[in-house]
Amino acid sequence: MTTPQRVAENVTGDFYVTTACIDCGTCRMLAPDVYTETGKYSAVRHQPQTSDEVQRSVYALLACPTAAIRCNNPDLKATIQNAASDFPLHLEGGVYYNGFTSRHAYGASSYFIQHPDGNWMIDAPRWLPSLVKKYEALGGISTILLTHQDDIGDAERYAAHFGAKRIIHEYEKHAQPDAEHILQGREDIQWHPDFQILFTPGHTKGHVSLLYKNRFLFSGDHLAWDSERDTFKYYKEFCWYSFDVQKESIAKLTQHRFAWLLPGHGGQKLLDEADMHRRLTELVAIMKSNN
Ligand code: SF4
Repeated sequence: MTTPQRVAENVTGDFYVTTACIDCGTCRMLAPDVYTETGKYSAVRHQPQTSDEVQRSVYALLACPTAAIRCNNPDLKATIQNAASDFPLHLEGGVYYNGFTSRHAYGASSYFIQHPDGNWMIDAPRWLPSLVKKYEALGGISTILLTHQDDIGDAERYAAHFGAKRIIHEYEKHAQPDAEHILQGREDIQWHPDFQILFTPGHTKGHVSLLYKNRFLFSGDHLAWDSERDTFKYYKEFCWYSFDVQKESIAKLTQHRFAWLLPGHGGQKLLDEADMHRRLTELVAIMKSNN
């Protein structure tokens, strides 16, 4: 194995990305002002200056699935160690971003919901004892929803530790054959008054999303946000099943209301609920006119 090299496009300074990068986008999602895409890798385009930029750069370093981000400032060693205990990062209400993405999930984001009737994980991070302790303090995990075959991470290990039920669609079952609950059919499922599982095929044949409290959409690899262009993003080039079906599934989302878009890959976004719906409706109209 070759030793990772510093990516040439990094600007000079403490933080840099190496060729161990798999271009998963996690760092660009967490610190878009600091990290950029070069085509093959991410790179540091702006060295963090403010305390917020330093904190987000450190979060990206910790969340990176391949340890491709380095910091050569010894004064930040304690900052980096302390930042690990901030994960999972709180978003709103009982919803958290897990960080610590898994190389096996290609750096996909995963999430945690603290709920009085049992906590959920949506897709899974890599196994980490410090995360386990945090989940234990938050009440454990009762349910792990796996949106599709790619973003599974260390779900099996978390399920075994917490006695959690893994949910996956039958078309994705090959990725987690001993999952405790297999979804069947093409209908949406109101699993609990607060949890609705939406059948959103396209990226893969049995892809599902989760709508939580009609406010948070956990969209897997179905739909994301492009923070540079400030609009929705979908990955036509990484569509493994049918992009026509994916477009139908995106159109179906206009039947629902949500304010948070929380994807597996790509940017997260919080908008006013009406604004999110208006922009989604516009996207669907554009996609239809491009047919
Ligand atoms: S998080 Fe790591 S692997 Fe992912 S794009 Fe950034 S540097 Fe590359």
